[in-house]
Amino acid sequence: MEPVQEIELLLLPEKAFDEAAVLSAIHQKLGKKALDIKGFNIRKRSIDARGGKVKFNLRVVLFFNQVAPAEVPFELIHKNVQHAPEVFIAGAGPAGYFAAFRLIEKGFRPVIIERGKTVRERRRDLANLTKNHIVNPESNYCFGEGGAGTYSDGKLYTRSDKRGDIQRALGIFRFFGADEDIQINARPHIGTNKLPGIIEKMREFILSCGGEIRFNTKLTDLKTGFGKLTDICLNGNEWIPASNLILATGHSAEDVYYMLHHRNIRIEAKPFALGVRAEHPQELINRIQYKADFQNEYLPPAYYSLVAQVGGKGVYSFCMCPGGIIAPCSTEPGLVVTNGWSPSKRNNPFANSGIVTEIGYEELATLGDVEKDPFIALKFRRKVEEASCINGQNDQTAPAQRLTDFVKGKKSADLPVCSYTPGTEPYDLKEVLPGFVFDRLQKAFVEFDKKMKGYLTAEALAVSTESRTSSAIRIPRDKVSLHHPEVMGLFPCAEGAGYAGGIISAAIDGEKCADAACINT
Ligand SMILES: Cc1cc2nc3c(=O)[nH]c(=O)nc-3n(C[C@H](O)[C@H](O)[C@H](O)COP(=O)(O)OP(=O)(O)OC[C@H]3O[C@@H](n4cnc5c(N)ncnc54)[C@H](O)[C@@H]3O)c2cc1C
Repeated sequence: MEPVQEIELLLLPEKAFDEAAVLSAIHQKLGKKALDIKGFNIRKRSIDARGGKVKFNLRVVLFFNQVAPAEVPFELIHKNVQHAPEVFIAGAGPAGYFAAFRLIEKGFRPVIIERGKTVRERRRDLANLTKNHIVNPESNYCFGEGGAGTYSDGKLYTRSDKRGDIQRALGIFRFFGADEDIQINARPHIGTNKLPGIIEKMREFILSCGGEIRFNTKLTDLKTGFGKLTDICLNGNEWIPASNLILATGHSAEDVYYMLHHRNIRIEAKPFALGVRAEHPQELINRIQYKADFQNEYLPPAYYSLVAQVGGKGVYSFCMCPGGIIAPCSTEPGLVVTNGWSPSKRNNPFANSGIVTEIGYEELATLGDVEKDPFIALKFRRKVEEASCINGQNDQTAPAQRLTDFVKGKKSADLPVCSYTPGTEPYDLKEVLPGFVFDRLQKAFVEFDKKMKGYLTAEALAVSTESRTSSAIRIPRDKVSLHHPEVMGLFPCAEGAGYAGGIISAAIDGEKCADAACINT
């Protein structure tokens, strides 16, 4: 008999978290063989809502004739790097902080440059944004310590498991205080209320190792010589010599792209996705997904993932937040941008999700010469964000439409309550969204309703604009060395450079760039 065996169990929700019930299910499944089991570990837990009754699917590892080994949580080793060679990192998002952990591990000293404020100070600007519609261009939902994901749902899954060591990245989140469940649940998430505390602990670790973090400090320029990075400029006036820079400034830092272009450093237009944020009552999503079990207290607020093909083009749900809130994610006055967050309990009465369609090279080519104008996608994104700002520069009210009216192409007479605190206003979103985006979304909502009966309802809203799904610019880099092809020592990193989408993939890319920078230092 193999000493270790992996099995799958399907359990009712009330049994999936009860150790005795799991053991009893193992006995039922294995019969006599189960008598030799000395222990078991649950490796994965996911919800299976496809059948009549909602169940949890558990992947369980069984240990025969040996005790289950105690789980050894991942630990980042504390090293003093105060006097070690320095590597500069622009951006204290997941990519920047994970790059810093890796540098410390390898005996280098990270120096992080961050335009925004610490998580705690950032909170005041977010309150000012939601209550008073004041967008601070240096401190908002996208800019500041922890990056764009700090005040998010903190979903920690990535579509691609080819990107790198996901378990290590999750292990690091655990090391800084995330629940152990993030390494078991198929769709792990942390929640807006818990993320800032974790980010603070990350910062304390970097500082205690001798790393440096400069908040309220913006990378504004750089110089190169003979194809190598030589200096970086901070806040427009402080030049410092630098031979390495991990550029992890995210996809909202338009000024960084313009600065690179101004310095004749190649950047390229990149396809991205655009659409609206849809919001439903969470209870309705629970009813659709869990059917008769919708009130089962052991089930979390239901999630959905939808995709439809419209005329050969994909329309899909993105960053779905059960029990969440739609957040104003603009980085400048005069633009309206949506995204979503949820607290760890996901206990708000709304379910929201981006519903977006690809703006591919084909669409970009209709706007101009993609090869000649690297800003073509970015300018297009901006135009839609401007059009969504319906009440002038200093107002974050978002244009919205009931889903049923969206599909009929008529302005809603009134709107249901929406979680977006700056407020919504009835609007014909045809006037805001590009025609082909509106058409595709219209058709997709009808298709979605066939997959989730009741999805297309007057109780649901489409709120514009969901535009910061991924970067509209790629900063090229060599596949192996990760240097910019024209500038040795410049490492375009993570989401803003077009190599990641989401917290985990950005974190993993940060580590990769740190590895590359170590070789160069
Ligand atoms: C509201 C919201 C909810 C989200 N929810 C999720 C989720 O649940 N799960 C998920 O996986 N993803 C989510 N995302 C996306 C996720 O946050 C990003 O994919 C991820 O943060 C990208 O990481 P990054 O490190 O590449 O860049 P960012 O997180 O964007 O970090 C870039 C950092 O660079 C700083 N910066 C910019 N310009 C400069 C400069 N010139 N000088 C110095 N610093 C600069 C910024 O202030 C920022 O801190 C969400 C995003 C938002 C806005």
